[in-house]
Amino acid sequence: MQKILIVSHCLLNTASKVERFKEESVRSEEQLRREVLREAVDSGVQLLQLPCPEFVMYGSLRWGHTYEQFDNTFYRSRCRELLEPVVQQLKEYMADKERFRILGILGIDGSPSCGVRYTCRGQWGGEFGGRDLEPVLKDVRLEKGQGVLMEVLGEMLSENGLELPMEGLFAREPQRALELLKK
Ligand code: SF4
Repeated sequence: MQKILIVSHCLLNTASKVERFKEESVRSEEQLRREVLREAVDSGVQLLQLPCPEFVMYGSLRWGHTYEQFDNTFYRSRCRELLEPVVQQLKEYMADKERFRILGILGIDGSPSCGVRYTCRGQWGGEFGGRDLEPVLKDVRLEKGQGVLMEVLGEMLSENGLELPMEGLFAREPQRALELLKK
């Protein structure tokens, strides 16, 4: 039996991530990411990579965004298009329970797209010039809830009668990601 874990794109390719400047949080997430990858490789778990919606829509020079900015019909429908081939693959794997077992989906907590338990919220938008940016920047916060891509993926799974555990990579709660590999 082959075990498969579905992972957010940047779990395997951090080059897709928005440029970050908080060294401590980058370091702790990277440590956990490597631990999860080592554990997956050592235990023979296969990794199926989700698309990175932010990279393919906004490229490498994008600003960091919030859930509110992506919570619109255009972003959701593009996520749906990107996820369609993945859902097809999941259906194929899940149809053969003798050969394959999908352990679940591992997203990235804190992401407005790929968060599973936590996402990034804030009323952002508009031009930078001519306004007091301090309260706008202060409004950004980590909040419980999924990112938009994960919400869309959840909808697509239930439309197809599929159910899978979902967790997010989160350095403050490392066990959640590691336990998904042991299912
Ligand atoms: S959108 Fe998802 S895959 Fe892309 S960088 Fe953000 S968390 Fe990673």
